[in-house]
Amino acid sequence: MSEPRREGARRIDSGGALRETEPASRFSRPVLSSRHGHGEGRRRPESGERMHRLTNQVRPYAWGARTAIPDLLGTEPDGSPQAELWLGAHHGAPSAAVSDDGSAHPLPHLIADAPHRVLGSEVAERFGARLPFLLKYLAAEQPLSLQVHPDAARARQGFDAEESSGIPVDAPHRNYRDPHHKPELLLALEPFEALCGFREPEAARHELRGMACELACALRADLASSDDHTALRSALTRLLTLSDDRRERLLSEFVEEWSACDRRGPHGRIVPDLAHRYPGDPGAVASLLLNRITLWPGEALFLPAGNLHAYLQGTAIEVMASSDNVLRAGLTRKHVDATELLDVVDFSVLPIPYAQPAFREGRREFRPGAPEFALHEVGPGRIAAHLPGTGPCVVLALDGQVDLVAEVGQGVALDRGQSVFVPADSGPVKVEGRGHVVAATVGAASGAALATAGVPSADPGTESRNTAGASAAPVGAGAGVRASAPSPAPTSSTAPTPSPASAAAPRPRG
Ligand SMILES: [Zn+2]
Repeated sequence: MSEPRREGARRIDSGGALRETEPASRFSRPVLSSRHGHGEGRRRPESGERMHRLTNQVRPYAWGARTAIPDLLGTEPDGSPQAELWLGAHHGAPSAAVSDDGSAHPLPHLIADAPHRVLGSEVAERFGARLPFLLKYLAAEQPLSLQVHPDAARARQGFDAEESSGIPVDAPHRNYRDPHHKPELLLALEPFEALCGFREPEAARHELRGMACELACALRADLASSDDHTALRSALTRLLTLSDDRRERLLSEFVEEWSACDRRGPHGRIVPDLAHRYPGDPGAVASLLLNRITLWPGEALFLPAGNLHAYLQGTAIEVMASSDNVLRAGLTRKHVDATELLDVVDFSVLPIPYAQPAFREGRREFRPGAPEFALHEVGPGRIAAHLPGTGPCVVLALDGQVDLVAEVGQGVALDRGQSVFVPADSGPVKVEGRGHVVAATVGAASGAALATAGVPSADPGTESRNTAGASAAPVGAGAGVRASAPSPAPTSSTAPTPSPASAAAPRPRG
C-alpha cells in the first residue's frame, strides 16, 4: 500500500506492505524477507490484522531541517522545513493505521472502536479510550522556542479555565490546547544541542563579570541573591517583563557588549547567535541562566514539568505524554504569557536530567517515571529483542531491515522509515534483523521505576560528567555498529567532535 504525498495535509506515506507470516504459536515462525527494500518483492499478507502499518504526518515548523525526515522516509526533499514526524493519535496530527486490505483508518478511531482490545483493559482503564503517548522523530536545523510544560494539575486547571473563558482552542494566545501534562523524553540520534534546566546562579553571574551595560548590572544584582530560587526567579522575571519601550535597547546593548570580547564559555556563541535569529527576544540573554549541553547519540534527557529548556539543533527521538501544552519564554514569534510561564517554571537548580536505560531482553529501555510512556531502543546492528506486550506499542525503524513477529497475528517487515502500531492483543513482539528500531509503550502504572541518574550541575561545557548508574553494556551485538555519520558541526564551539567510538558507545565518558 503506497500513497502519494498529499499536498496541504503533508501526510507522507511510510511505505511498504504488510507481509505474511502465519498466525502461530509464540514466535515460532520468523518472518522471511526478500529484502528488496520498501516493500518491493515482499510476500503479500496472508491473514490476521493485528499490527497496522502507519502513515504519519509531518509538522512543517520553521525550525525544521530540510532533509532529515525525507532521508528517513525515502522521499524527495521539497526544500521546505520538515520539523517533526508524529506517530500517535494526538488530534493535532493523528497517524493513520493501514489494514492489510489497504484501507486506512485514523488511529484515534481504531482505538475508540475497541479500546479494551487495542489498548488492553488496564491501559483503557487508566487513560480512557486514548493513546496516552506520542512518539516523534524530531529534526531541528534551528533553535526551537525556550519552553516549559505544565504538570497534570496545572494543565487540567488551565485548560478548563480557557475553555470556560471561550478562548478557541486554536487561538494564537491560547496556552492550554488539551487538558494533559507533557513530560517528555528525548533520545539523541546525532550530536544534539540543547539548553536544559537552570544552572547555578553564580555560574551565570560569573559570566557577566566586567560587563557594564544596564541589563548586565541588573542581572548581576539579581543573581547575587543567596537563595538560588530567588536569584533565578528575579533574573528571568526581569528579562520577561522588560517594558516595550526599553526592551530592544537594553537587549541590544547587552548583546553588543557580550560579543565585544572573546568568550570561551559554553554560552559564548549562543547569546549572539540566538539574538541574531530573534532580535529583541529576551530568550537569547535568558539562555545564560540555563545549562548548555550536547547529547551524544544514544544519550537521553527526561524533561519533567517545570523544566525550562530549548532544543537548539540535531535529530532525536522524542516520546511524551500525548499533549501539545507548551508555555513559551522566548526564542519564538509565538505567544508568550510571561505571568503563566513564571508560575509554571521550576526555579530549582537540579542535576541535568539524563535518563539512563535499563537493559532488558535485547533492548535499552527508558522508563523515566512518566505513567504515559516508556521508550525502547533496539540496535543499531544485528538485533534480536522482545518488546513488552502489555499494552499498545508504536514501532519505528530508523535504519536497516527488521522483522517484527507478534505472539498473536501476523508478522511485519520494516525498512528504514517505516512504522507500525501494535495493538495490545497482539501480545509481546519479537524484533529481529539488522537495523535500528525505537518503540514507545505505556509507562508503569505506579509511575515508579525512575531510571534517571543525576549529573552535577557543574558547567556541562566542561564535560565533567558523573555517569553514576549508567551501564556501559551495549545492546545485542549491534551497539558498536552505529553507521550513520555524525551531523554537521554542532552550534557550540565547545562541543568536542564526536569520535566514532563516542557515537557507538556513548557511555561512560568524561
Ligand atoms: Zn519541550
